[in-house]
Amino acid sequence: MTDPQLALDIRGLEKTYAGARGEPPKHALKGIDLSVERGRIFGLLGPNGAGKSTLINILAGLVRKSAGSAIVWGFDIDQQPRNAKASIGIVPQEIYFDAFFSPREMLDLQAGFYGIAPGDRRTDEILAAVSLLDKADSYTRNLSGGMKRRLLVARAMVHNPPILVLDEPTAGVDVELRQNLWSYVRKLNRLGVTIVLTTHYLEEAEELCDEIAIINHGEVVACDATANLLNRLDKKVITIRPLCALASLPQALVAMGGCLNAAGEIVIRFSPSHLSVGEILQKLQELAIRIADLSTEESDLEDIFLQLTSVQETVQESAQESAQKSAQKIQAKGA
Ligand code: ADP
Repeated sequence: MTDPQLALDIRGLEKTYAGARGEPPKHALKGIDLSVERGRIFGLLGPNGAGKSTLINILAGLVRKSAGSAIVWGFDIDQQPRNAKASIGIVPQEIYFDAFFSPREMLDLQAGFYGIAPGDRRTDEILAAVSLLDKADSYTRNLSGGMKRRLLVARAMVHNPPILVLDEPTAGVDVELRQNLWSYVRKLNRLGVTIVLTTHYLEEAEELCDEIAIINHGEVVACDATANLLNRLDKKVITIRPLCALASLPQALVAMGGCLNAAGEIVIRFSPSHLSVGEILQKLQELAIRIADLSTEESDLEDIFLQLTSVQETVQESAQESAQKSAQKIQAKGA
């Protein structure tokens, strides 16, 4: 039975691509189960080749599934393909449109594809929503990269779909534009649009998504509320700078998993479910160690992602970048 509150209900979805020119067939999706509640910002996270685009393309009616079922906003993609398709808007990763069309013409063309009569079109309203009304009649080739991205979002919204899928929306986009797009995605979500976002930027998923599914090699390896995922590793680090330098670390703190770093700070790696920050601070008090400063660090999505997608060579550039950044941070701290 389908839950009417679900935006997407995907059961046992499989896809095998026929191998081209003597290559073996590719089992790209190996039985995906996913439920996305209405009103969410849901993240599909996974390294390259994990199967994210295949999944989205099946939902959009662009790729035929090999097995399983998918229900989009209550419509089965096999039994009610038109309704299912009408319920979803896809914002593609690549920017491609005819440079000589204006944004207004592009949206009108798209509305025509969906059979929306001229009197029912919301062209100006949508252009205003993506702050492009003043560019409505310019050539799209004269738009900036950010404006083109927003125009892609506008085009996906023409038929007023309740679900918007953004495929790697900020890949190759600069930091400022990324922030703008994020705030725009939040705005759409507040207006009631369910958002599904594929990304390999861990920070993006952590920042935006209520819930995240991590996909690897065509399988869902984790699916949970972002906060629960982050709690999963049950690891925390507390770094304490003592007021007076310690010659060595008292045994009681070593027993708690502590060590002294090169800067003379006490670093304790602990599991919050077994030891609380309060207990650590109490121990410091008992040992008469006065604190000049302290900081704590939680595990982040990167740790979870690396743990779950353990095939190191497929780990995305962003994970590596942020791992390098963390290493630099640790080195800088230790220096
Ligand atoms: P992602 O979007 O997560 O990068 P894809 O869905 O594009 O992953 O790809 C999943 C797997 O399916 C990859 O191994 C990819 O090479 C393969 N694949 C994707 N499209 C095709 C296709 N048209 N024909 C054959 N194999 C494909």
